[in-house]
Amino acid sequence: MRRWNGWGDTSIDYPLPAGAADFLETRVGAASPPAEVSLEDVLACVPASRLAHHPLITTDSSERLLHARGQSLPDWVALRSGQIECYPDGVAFPSDEVQVRDLLDYAKSHRFQIIIYGGGTSVVGHVTPLPGNTAVLTIDMSRMTDLVQLDETSRQATFKAGVSGPYLESQLNQHGFTLGHFPQSFELSTLGGWIATRSCGQQSYRYGRIEDLFAGGHLETLAGPLELPALPASAAGPDLRHIILGSEGRLGIITRATVRIRLLPEFEAFYGIFFHEWESGQAALRQIAQIELPVSMLRLSDAQETETTLVLSGKKSLVNWADRSLKSIGYSSSRCLLILGITGDHSQTRYARQKVFSIVRRHGGLPTGQFIGKTWKKSRFLTPYLRNTLWDHGYALDTMETAVKWADIDASLADIQSALRTALTSDNERVLVFSHLSHVYVDGASIYTTFLFRQGAESDETLQRWLALKTKASLAVVAHGGTISHQHGVGIDHAPYLKSEKGSQGIAALHATFASLDPDGLLNPGKLIK
Ligand SMILES: Cc1cc2nc3c(=O)[nH]c(=O)nc-3n(C[C@H](O)[C@H](O)[C@H](O)COP(=O)(O)OP(=O)(O)OC[C@H]3O[C@@H](n4cnc5c(N)ncnc54)[C@H](O)[C@@H]3O)c2cc1C
Repeated sequence: MRRWNGWGDTSIDYPLPAGAADFLETRVGAASPPAEVSLEDVLACVPASRLAHHPLITTDSSERLLHARGQSLPDWVALRSGQIECYPDGVAFPSDEVQVRDLLDYAKSHRFQIIIYGGGTSVVGHVTPLPGNTAVLTIDMSRMTDLVQLDETSRQATFKAGVSGPYLESQLNQHGFTLGHFPQSFELSTLGGWIATRSCGQQSYRYGRIEDLFAGGHLETLAGPLELPALPASAAGPDLRHIILGSEGRLGIITRATVRIRLLPEFEAFYGIFFHEWESGQAALRQIAQIELPVSMLRLSDAQETETTLVLSGKKSLVNWADRSLKSIGYSSSRCLLILGITGDHSQTRYARQKVFSIVRRHGGLPTGQFIGKTWKKSRFLTPYLRNTLWDHGYALDTMETAVKWADIDASLADIQSALRTALTSDNERVLVFSHLSHVYVDGASIYTTFLFRQGAESDETLQRWLALKTKASLAVVAHGGTISHQHGVGIDHAPYLKSEKGSQGIAALHATFASLDPDGLLNPGKLIK
């Protein structure tokens, strides 16, 4: 069963490993769990629905609560404290395009707002209903999950867009194929959500971002259906697929999507490599990216993330042994860990290993075999469960992500980290901050920064702390000309910073585009642009 106020399935826990509590206390301070509201108490507060009756819509309080929020930090604060300002007035679970059309027509005729819900894993407020006088209908896509067509010759597969990561992969794997799109939210997020947020999977270096994988599809809009032919390429004017990508539920419901698929790889392995310090690791990463070697994943952690990852891995005696061994050969506390993924056919991957390890060694890197990589792979979709445990111990955790050019990485990273470290100084609160570069391009990379801080005694205080952190880090991103999001999208939380990337004309063009398919502004208003 899915957790109503945290991440994932209630049967899965990620207990705090031995030593982790001491580590956090030293870095951030001792914390105690805040008071939490019970499910029964929250359900008792769900207000009456404002929707007119419709046979496909349930107004059941539990469903309305389960669809009231996503996974952003404000979402967690709201769910854990019970201070949930708004609920959808009803939830529908269409199972085909006819039902989707019916629901859109119903909402349009009553002028109800519509929020499309994929897996609800948004971390920036995409699925949160906003206060107002208009009733809100949430359309949950979880019953639209089938593989509709597999074109093995063209290597394209068409799915209903509510399919989750694991079910999509299992349907493809049966035929010997993979999409290769593995965001960390893979367990719950959906194909439609990936397209609507321009998501990026952990092995994007081999498989590409979702915009590289999305070939076409079908959209039901308030103005009527929109078909996007799955062409390999097109010079027939602006590519409408790129307007749908990142549309965050503002243009219509993606009901079907055709994606580009690959054969399951003959070989795949993940390796752990230590560098003496950040600079040499980054230089090696850049070189690998710029000569375009066939690797699938490159994730370079800074020294703080390297240490934190090892402490939170739970393998205390092994970590102590590795620490002593690494120190004895000169890899001090400034060491940085690279997780390297190599995926492909045998001849390609043999070549990649040879070239990559030679670059790594030239930069003083120490390959340590596959143990660290295997451990990472085993827990790649499990680590989000740690957020539940940390929260229960009184710690809140969130992330910031951007992408900048290689030339701007060091200055941007330094300022983002410094903004986060000092954001709560006036409250005498310390913040644990660490980063990695995980999606690399010929011209730059994404910077992914995690920040961990103590929750306040009251939920408002936690929210204020988060807001101070998020605002200062976002301003640092914008000041360096970075994008406000490399992969999570805009939603509510990043909307104030979008103009610095798109400019006034760009924002006006987006408004006009949305209005062309949704003149009454019923689809997910207030998200992406106000
Ligand atoms: C623990 C965790 C790890 C994460 N890791 C990553 C990561 O590695 N990479 C990454 O890119 N993101 C990551 N995310 C963010 C999130 O998972 C992605 O944004 C994901 O693409 C959202 O998919 P979803 O199906 O959950 O969409 P939802 O959260 O349900 O919705 C997101 C937006 O998409 C719209 N939408 C959803 N389905 C449709 C549809 N069928 N048609 C039209 N619009 C639709 C919604 O209206 C909403 O605006 C992570 C989130 C969490 C909580």
